[in-house]
Amino acid sequence: MKPSAPDFQWEYAPAPEARDHAKIKPQYDLFINGKWQKPASKTYFDTISPSTEQKLSEVAEANEKDVNAAIAAAKKAYNTYWKKLTGADRAKYIFRIARVMQERARELAVIESLDGGKPIRESRDFDVPTAANHFFYYAGWADKLNYAFPNRRLQPLGVAAQIIPWNFPLLMAAWKIAPALATGNTVVLKPAESTPLTALKLAEIIEEADLPPGVVNIITGFGKTGAAMVNHPDVQKIAFTGSTDVGKHIQKAVAGTTKKITLELGGKAANIVFDDAPINQAVEGIVNGIFFNQGHVCCAGSRLFVQEGVAAEVIQKLKNRMNTLIVGDPLDKNTDIGAINSKEQLDRIKAYLKIGVEEGLELFQSTCTLPKKGFFCKPTLFIGAAQSSRVVQEEIFGPVLTIQTFRTIEEVIEKANNIPYGLSAGVWTDKGSKIFNLTTKMRAGVVWANTYNKFDPTSPFGGYKESGFGREGGLHGLYPYLKF
Ligand code: ADP
Repeated sequence: MKPSAPDFQWEYAPAPEARDHAKIKPQYDLFINGKWQKPASKTYFDTISPSTEQKLSEVAEANEKDVNAAIAAAKKAYNTYWKKLTGADRAKYIFRIARVMQERARELAVIESLDGGKPIRESRDFDVPTAANHFFYYAGWADKLNYAFPNRRLQPLGVAAQIIPWNFPLLMAAWKIAPALATGNTVVLKPAESTPLTALKLAEIIEEADLPPGVVNIITGFGKTGAAMVNHPDVQKIAFTGSTDVGKHIQKAVAGTTKKITLELGGKAANIVFDDAPINQAVEGIVNGIFFNQGHVCCAGSRLFVQEGVAAEVIQKLKNRMNTLIVGDPLDKNTDIGAINSKEQLDRIKAYLKIGVEEGLELFQSTCTLPKKGFFCKPTLFIGAAQSSRVVQEEIFGPVLTIQTFRTIEEVIEKANNIPYGLSAGVWTDKGSKIFNLTTKMRAGVVWANTYNKFDPTSPFGGYKESGFGREGGLHGLYPYLKF
């Protein structure tokens, strides 16, 4: 018998992306001073694929000595070469990185999905092209800084220590490296321990682009490696994206120093649907905002606010749409939701699912079956959540959406803002006036209107409150790397 309409789902034949063109070496050393160097620590750690739990490679664990070597290389490159180059010459190198990234885009996308678990559709269509676009965009600024900041004496800062998380490994590396180079700084970058591979591939690209040795150094390791970078006296600038807890640690560590710092931390974005919204479009935006990326996005629309008049319709349509989402192999082009990045993260999400149920919230999960191996989580709703609920207040970083209803615009603004975070928000309505009323009152760095999770290198991104400070992207992204 043919199933009834909302349950009916086409069966898709598997469409796996080829992976033979993605070359992953069995072991990676540290990229310091333009060379691959064995770690002084003599230790390596495994990086696995979260969708299969299989080892992909092992990477060096940088200790304090390694960090010192990387920072010394960056300092030397800064003083002897990079700060003396003209903006136009710096731009040539940055353009070259962008072009090689484009040439190797497929390889980068496959490795990103293997190492991080995100669907190939996302890494192929979003992460990799957007990362290359960041290099193109900031290459364009390198010789125009005097137009960006007219009549000011500009100077780079020196060595930038950049520490990035696991949710957008290559893109975060691009967000950090491109503006630093464009403004004349040199870099030591550390990717997250669970997703080091695309940053190491970027080191290969930087080699291929023939950057002078020491201008970009890429080292791998855990929190201790990051802490050694932060505490090093020759670092003038720290750019960090990651958890609010570690961000607070870093802030304490640099207190009393002259180091410049930008922090992009957690989020708990409100996605607000008014009763005059285009409902089908909004449902698609809600799904895109929280599920398509496993909820592994600081700006994920993880709190849904629906106006009472349309709540039943939105929730029903959302459930129907969730039942069509394909959860599974990140390398399959049909997959909507890939693997959770690590076992620790999956355990953390599961703990929150338990908390939500214990708080008495109504739980809905899609009907999909999860692969037996790997770290996967069904897309989940918590319906009828209270403002005080822990699943509403705390960042889960998984495919879990809380749903609250509201009656008036004043009420929803108050509830949406009543949270320690302020990174982003979404609003769905037919009325421009409502959008402007809301955007001026939302304490969030980015507010999307009738869309969600749209990014562009020209547009600044960053938070309010515990979501951090400083902006990345756009002209604003140049400020944190310059002295005036
Ligand atoms: P997330 O789990 O969101 O990635 P973390 O803040 O734990 O958040 O990690 C982000 C990055 O910060 C990673 O590269 C990690 O290795 C690094 N890190 C962790 N602890 C510290 C620390 N104390 N100082 C500097 N960097 C750290």
